[in-house]
Amino acid sequence: MLQSIFCGLPLAALETVEAAGESWVSMNLIMAAYLVSGILFLLSLGGLSSQESAKRGAVFGIVGMALAIVATFYLPQVGGSPLAIGMMVVGGAIGLVLAKRVEMTAMPQLVAILHSFVGLAAVLIGFASYLDSSHVLVGTERTVHYIEIFLGVLIGAVTFTGSVIAYGKLDGKIGSSPLILPGRHLLNLGIGLVCIWLGVMFVGSETLAEGMWPLLGMTVLALVFGVHMVMAIGGADMPVVISMLNSYSGWAASATGFMLHNDLLIITGALVGSSGAILSIIMCQAMNRSFISVIMGGFGTQSASAGGGGEDQGEVQAITAEETAELIRQAKTIVVVPGYGMAVSHAQHPVSELAKRLRAAGKTFQFAIHPVAGRMPGHMNVLLAEAKVPYDIVLEMDEINDDLPEADVVIVIGANDIVNPSALEEPDSPIAGMPVLEVWKAGTVIVSKRSMATGYAGVQNPLFFKENTRMLFGDAKASVDGILAALGELAPHGKSKQTAGV
Ligand code: NDP
Repeated sequence: MLQSIFCGLPLAALETVEAAGESWVSMNLIMAAYLVSGILFLLSLGGLSSQESAKRGAVFGIVGMALAIVATFYLPQVGGSPLAIGMMVVGGAIGLVLAKRVEMTAMPQLVAILHSFVGLAAVLIGFASYLDSSHVLVGTERTVHYIEIFLGVLIGAVTFTGSVIAYGKLDGKIGSSPLILPGRHLLNLGIGLVCIWLGVMFVGSETLAEGMWPLLGMTVLALVFGVHMVMAIGGADMPVVISMLNSYSGWAASATGFMLHNDLLIITGALVGSSGAILSIIMCQAMNRSFISVIMGGFGTQSASAGGGGEDQGEVQAITAEETAELIRQAKTIVVVPGYGMAVSHAQHPVSELAKRLRAAGKTFQFAIHPVAGRMPGHMNVLLAEAKVPYDIVLEMDEINDDLPEADVVIVIGANDIVNPSALEEPDSPIAGMPVLEVWKAGTVIVSKRSMATGYAGVQNPLFFKENTRMLFGDAKASVDGILAALGELAPHGKSKQTAGV
């Protein structure tokens, strides 16, 4: 979100110093501050790469951004501008209220809508930069500047509408199933070709008015493309869209940096753009998807309704919290698979307490984290870290999948798609090919959820009907609280001080 702040500053704030005449503080000092900020952003990204150093990484990011804002504030055209100060105060106040109010479960939507602001800012700055008559450019310089404007507006417009649609899908305001228009690839190709033609017209235009209509035409097409691109992507592929839009917002900010000749914005945008691109590739690998296929909306779309209707697959076997406690008491190895439902019900704290008690009783207790669990990359890791779960018992899917057959009990807490065997067993399934946590290979699987409803991808889950699966119906937090109450204090060798309810 680093680039949001910069793109949010008014155009005048980031203009070069020459036009302004005298400066408040030496321009060299401002550049030095920008350099230090850039280094702090790099250190921040490095820190965020592991849970142990994430806090330090966040602090580097905060300090870097604070320094960058202060330095920007001292740019001659910003200093003393009531407009800039007013915008910062209003924007900062809105951000503060939003950040305080937003639930952890709504973070993915918030991130998506913030990406849309970056896109919108890039579009507006592109137009403002085009209309700005204070610099008269000629020859190659003019051509390069026009290309910067055209690309900045293009990427910004796609990011803007794409992120708004992603927000709608994550918030449940728009259905998660893909919208497949007939001839959609031709439509995309057509939009791409017309945009190239408009770009040539724009760069070759002689007057402001002559260049305005290709710029406006491309903006409308890019806005439409952003909507179409994200609408065509189906439920289970959404994680890639989130990271991809994150990347786009970075490139949009970078393009804005070129337009405004602001080095820090170029660096920040490039960092966000490239890290978002790397994350998209990691997400694609985790889901066994090809990046191109995902953004073309080609995956799982032909059979989007296959297995998705929640059709009857047999009887399920329900279990109570007391019976679950008894099973856990007998088990030596317990694995918990958290999913989106754990975030919704805020069950991470009682789950952390469960881990503490069972480990103190000498049992092996681990968490298995799927890369796309929840609604944003790293969602489960953040929740577990918040609940003070030790990092060494939180394992990624690749680290634990082969060991799941040795687990006596696996407790699936509010997860669904990430433990769905049809991803491996049904080639027609919308989630076919996505690696999943193979929990059904464990001794007993307890699934904590409220009903038989499907997960985000809208696919029914054969796991619930398996012989060794027991359904623990109810809100996840209430269920885990119930298990804790029934377990009571455990003696170090697994002997309970309290008699179980069954
Ligand atoms: P799912 O969405 O597949 O399943 C969550 C389950 O939680 C639901 O079936 C729901 O069942 C249950 N649930 C909801 N509320 C509660 C509650 N209060 N108590 C107990 N259970 C509850 O989540 P997963 O984590 O398994 O999978 C993530 C899905 O989200 C994947 O399809 C992924 O592609 C997608 N996605 C992931 C993103 C990411 O970046 N990680 C981004 C966008 C999408 P019930 O209603 O019956 O309780």
